Amino acid sequence: VAGGLPSPQPVKIQEIKCTKIFFNNEWHTSSTGKTFPTFNPATGSKICDVEEADQEDVDKAVQAAKVAKQRGSPWQRMESSGRGRLLYRLADLMERDRLLLATLETLDTGKPFLQSFFIDLEGSIKTLRYYAGWADKVQGRSLAIDETFVCLTKHNPVGVCGAIIPWNFPLLMLTWKLAPALSCGNTVVIKPAEQTPLTALHLGSLIIEAGLPPGVVNIVPGFGPTAGAAIASHRDVDKVAFTGSTEVGQLIKEAAARSNLKRVTLELGGKNPCIVFADCDLQLAVKETQHGAFYNQGQCCTAASRVYVEESIYEEFVHCSIESAKKIVIGDPLDPQTSHGPQIDHQQFDKIMSFIESGKQEGAKLEYGGAAVGERGLFIQPTIFSGVKDHMRIAKEEIFGPVQCILSFKSQEEAIERANCSEYGLVSAVFTTSLDKALSVSASLETGTVWINCYNALHAQAPFGGYKMSGNGRELGEYALAEYSEVKAVTIKLSQTL
Ligand code: NAD
Repeated sequence: VAGGLPSPQPVKIQEIKCTKIFFNNEWHTSSTGKTFPTFNPATGSKICDVEEADQEDVDKAVQAAKVAKQRGSPWQRMESSGRGRLLYRLADLMERDRLLLATLETLDTGKPFLQSFFIDLEGSIKTLRYYAGWADKVQGRSLAIDETFVCLTKHNPVGVCGAIIPWNFPLLMLTWKLAPALSCGNTVVIKPAEQTPLTALHLGSLIIEAGLPPGVVNIVPGFGPTAGAAIASHRDVDKVAFTGSTEVGQLIKEAAARSNLKRVTLELGGKNPCIVFADCDLQLAVKETQHGAFYNQGQCCTAASRVYVEESIYEEFVHCSIESAKKIVIGDPLDPQTSHGPQIDHQQFDKIMSFIESGKQEGAKLEYGGAAVGERGLFIQPTIFSGVKDHMRIAKEEIFGPVQCILSFKSQEEAIERANCSEYGLVSAVFTTSLDKALSVSASLETGTVWINCYNALHAQAPFGGYKMSGNGRELGEYALAEYSEVKAVTIKLSQTL
């Protein structure tokens, strides 16, 4: 019971209804006749089979999106506030189906149910409403040239936008792309991750119910090298937004360049530093950095995977972190008591275990965890290493698992330099009670987001994205509108000046 209200409970799902390819507001079987299974990572059992979209199906979905954005189409002619109303309606339907969507998300990803409900669904619904409000407020400017010219800018949709989604936040990463795209009047073709297609497909049914015109939103479940690559290299796709690994981000940019130079936004990996100063609120820093490291089983591009702690509080910080980790409840993600679920699949599980092994081999001190849990499923204990050095693999590479690396530093200058010494630049955090220190250190950090005395504080209003190899462009906030708009300058020569 939270705040006197009963805690939300997962729903019993008898049958998964939406398992087909979605375009033109209709459900389709795959052109190859192929399907693929999706599994529950907590048990290893199959949830259901899903139609597998390949190049031909992507092509049909893109054609539907292309027709839907054409001049004179219902979507193109719709009043801008009408797009806003549709987004609000979609948000309301998501809210109505919130328990079902949170249950589906938990079944497919293994993330604890209350996290699906309070974070993924909350964030998705808020993002839709935020961009619903923007739909009729996207406006150009009148520019000062001289008295003989009038120059106006107009913000037009880009056109057909591809969205390639990862498995760690299937619905949230989808709405981060869908909402600004629709708000600006684009049409979209979404490819969910092959591990987690179910919430995206349920959204298809809500798209019909909300009354979006056919072809505006299309969903193609399938694999990366086939369906994903078909979107990235499609000549009728005008823009692609991707969240996932840096390697695949590079492939997408390459495919975009080789095909039609479509616009690309990328939200990629991170090796995110936290700097914990001796003057911080220690309990707060322990709680937030640990939450940052272990949230979603460490499967976050924002994972707090390098925690630099000032030497004088290092021992105490490590001790408190271990005590805090002992309180984490590993178990069935559908059980509301559970705070830590399984990893997504065997490949990720093996990769994480090999990182843990490398940490031990390279001389870091394993303070807590480090092992798999149970016979079945893909559970890994929250793991803490101390004595981590910058050259170790666990301090340099993205682990994407529940592994917290704690390092120590002596001076502010050293901490900043080491924090910036990474090919990534997604997020960072600073823990201190000195406002002066917080602001000057945050000014020096080469990351798209800096959190001060908090972590994973994501809001629809605030832009999100990376420096360096963490990506290009920004999602969320007013900034994301620019990623989904073409700007047109209309210049008028006056025949007379008075
Ligand atoms: P991935 O990058 O391979 O997958 C992300 C999405 O891209 C999926 O929808 C996938 O089908 C698609 N994809 C894969 N290959 C593609 C291609 N050639 N063309 C177009 N689309 C393609 O990620 P993964 O293999 O599932 O995970 C591997 C690593 O990626 C993880 O260990 C982690 O480091 C990173 N990752 C990062 C994020 C993030 O939020 N930044 C999310 C998931 C994974």
